[in-house]
Amino acid sequence: MTKIIDGKAISAAVKERVKKGVGELNQQGITVGLAVIIVGEDPASKVYVANKKKACEALGIISEEYALPESTTEAELLSLIKELNAKKSINGILCQLPLPRHLDEKLIINSILPEKDVDAFHPHNVGRIMIGDYDFVPCTPAGIMEMLKYENIEVEGKTCVVIGRSNIVGKPMGMLLLHKNGTVTICHSRTKNLKEVCRSADILVAAVGKAGFVTPDMVKEGAVVIDVGMNRENGKLCGDVDYEAVKDKTSAITPVPGGVGPMTIAMLMQNTLTAAKKQNGLI
Ligand code: NAP
Repeated sequence: MTKIIDGKAISAAVKERVKKGVGELNQQGITVGLAVIIVGEDPASKVYVANKKKACEALGIISEEYALPESTTEAELLSLIKELNAKKSINGILCQLPLPRHLDEKLIINSILPEKDVDAFHPHNVGRIMIGDYDFVPCTPAGIMEMLKYENIEVEGKTCVVIGRSNIVGKPMGMLLLHKNGTVTICHSRTKNLKEVCRSADILVAAVGKAGFVTPDMVKEGAVVIDVGMNRENGKLCGDVDYEAVKDKTSAITPVPGGVGPMTIAMLMQNTLTAAKKQNGLI
């Protein structure tokens, strides 16, 4: 019997936990604040930012939105980040990616104080994830680990295969599974025998960005399949896994929509609460 992992329900549980944590801080006179910076007019980014703002409001997190024009210079953006780094009421800073081409993404990410880098993209935080001593984890892999935990899916000793090696999903995902004592393989576009490698997986995570990429012949009977993909096909959101064809072969699978997606914002809220606790010497 296949378990359909319900990202909406699990993210609601995480948000409830965060709301309680924010309430406890508020009772001690401590507020929790997140600044979200968006540069330009990218419609998808605007939707993400609006959703983040909505989530903050629902959990009692103060959100400050900085919507800057496409023409913003690097110096102007750096100056805003400097101001937010110093601002006491702001615990987390997030700069929505992608940035317009004339802005150096690396430089901008590096200018955010590591203790306010709730996306965990700063090299300091990336390094800490590598050594297994971290406060923040990129929100999507963190959300996946939360789902596995919630569903009592043991990682230790399992063969884990991650398809995709991006800095925001694939690589940190591999590290988190490794920290939980999984035996991890990270695949990419130059991987040979991809089907065979995937078929060895007890836990298969697809973060490719190609609709229906994972087919039944890539999935071991009884595997857990996590679909990170968010692809638009004829206006419809679909994942990297051919869900209908693969589902019955798995012991557990995440749908798209309603799987990994809702977890990402919930984990951002969690990271913001952690930042506030750290900055107030509570953890
Ligand atoms: P990305 O930076 O484009 O990385 C895609 C990865 O897939 C790359 O490592 C690439 O390999 C690999 N790949 C591409 N074609 C392949 C092939 N034929 N065989 C094996 N590997 C292949 O994408 P991303 O940012 O990690 O995102 C991946 C997907 O997750 C996207 O659909 C994105 O929208 C979605 N996403 C969802 C959430 C969420 O909240 N649910 C969050 C973030 C991302 P190379 O490195 O060799 O090019």
